[in-house]
Amino acid sequence: MKHRNFKTVPRMIFGRGAFDQLDEVLAEQRKSSKDLVVFLVDEIHKDRPLGQRIPKHDQDMLIWLDVTDEPKTTYVDALTEQVQAYCREHNDGNDPVSIIGLGGGSSMDIAKAVALLLTNPGGAALYQGWDLIKNPAVHHVGIPTISGTGAEASRTTVLTGPEKKLGMNSDYTVFDQIIMDPDLVAGVEKNQWFYTGMDCYIHNVEALNGTYINEFARAFGDQSSQLCHEVFLEDHPESEEKLMMASYMGGQSIAYSQVGACHALSYGLSYVLGYHHGIGNCIAFNVLDDFYPEGVATFRKMMEKHNIDLPTNVCANLTDEQMNKMIQVCSGMAPLWDNVYGPSWKEKVTPELLRGLYEKM
Ligand code: NAD
Ligand code: ZN
Repeated sequence: MKHRNFKTVPRMIFGRGAFDQLDEVLAEQRKSSKDLVVFLVDEIHKDRPLGQRIPKHDQDMLIWLDVTDEPKTTYVDALTEQVQAYCREHNDGNDPVSIIGLGGGSSMDIAKAVALLLTNPGGAALYQGWDLIKNPAVHHVGIPTISGTGAEASRTTVLTGPEKKLGMNSDYTVFDQIIMDPDLVAGVEKNQWFYTGMDCYIHNVEALNGTYINEFARAFGDQSSQLCHEVFLEDHPESEEKLMMASYMGGQSIAYSQVGACHALSYGLSYVLGYHHGIGNCIAFNVLDDFYPEGVATFRKMMEKHNIDLPTNVCANLTDEQMNKMIQVCSGMAPLWDNVYGPSWKEKVTPELLRGLYEKM
C-alpha cells in the first residue's frame, strides 16, 4: 500500500490579536519597493472595524469579495484577470508577492484559487479535480473570520464550475501561512455560526465513522469532536478559541481520511437548489439517522440548545429532471461513498436510496 505524502500548512499564528502581525508576515515577502500584495476580503468587513485594520501599503490592491453565492469558477477567473491587469499597470506585470484571503470558507477558497490561477493559465474549470495543478501558486495567506470549514487547513478550494462543483485539490492549494485570531469571529450571525460550526462537527462524524479512518485522522477528529461538544453543548467561555481549533483539526482529520454521506447529499442540494455548504449539510445530516445514529442524535441536541430551525420539505417541488440531477451529482462523489461503504459502494448507493433521503429533507 502506498501512503499519502501529506502537505500541511507550514506556518501559523494562533491567538487573540494575531491579526496585527500580518504586516510583519508580509514584510518577509516584499523584496522591492514595487512588490505588491493583494487582499481579498469578505465584503461584510468593509464597514466593520476589521476593514480599517487591513495593513495595506500604497501599491497594494484590495478587493471586497461578494460571497452571496459560493465561489464560482467564473468569479475566480474574473478576479484573477483583475489582479493581472493591476499588476501590469503597477508592477510591470510581475505577480503579487502574496494573496491574502480574509473571511470565511468562501473568501479563503477564492484566495487559494486566485493564487493558483496566477501561475496556472487557462481558467479554473481546467483544474477542478485531483492534482491537475502544474505550477506552484503565488504565496497565499488564509485568515478565517468564521470557524468550521477547515478551509484554512485543507488542500482544496471548492468551486462551482460549468459542469460540476468540485475542488482544485493539490499540494499547491495549501496556504503558505494561516493566522487564526479568535477576535475576528466576533459578530457572526447566530444561524450562520451554527451552520458553519456544524460543517466541522459533521466532518468529524463522517471521518470517524468512515472506512478510511486511521489513527492519524482519528487523533485529530476525536479532539475536534470534543471541542465541538464543549462549544455547542456547554457554554464555554473560550468557545471562539475552541471552535477555531476544532475547525483546523477537523480539516487536518479529513485531509488524511474523507467525508461521507452527508457531504455527498449536500453537494447535490447545493448544485441544484443553491443551498450553501453549512446549511445544506445540516439539512442532509438531519435525515441520516441510519448512517450516523449517535452523531445525528447529538446534532439534534445542539440544534435544540441553540434554537435552530431548519428548512423542511426542501425537495417537495423539484421536477424529475432536478431530482435526477441531484442524484447524479450525489452518486458521483465516489471517494465519499467509498469511505461510507467500502469498495462495494456502487451496489448500495442506488437512485432509490438517494431519492428516499432527499424526499425526507
Ligand atoms: P462563507 O465564507 O460563505 O461565509 C458565510 C457568511 O458569514 C457570509 O455571509 C459572510 O459574509 C459571513 N461572515 C464571515 N465572517 C464574518 C464575521 N466575522 N462577522 C459576520 N459575518 C461574517 O461561509 P463558510 O461556511 O465559512 O464557507 C463556506 C464555503 O467554504 C463553501 O463555498 C464551501 O464549499 C467551502 N468549503 C471549503 C472547504 C475547504 O476545505 N476548502 C471545506 C468546507 C467548505
Ligand atoms: Zn464541509
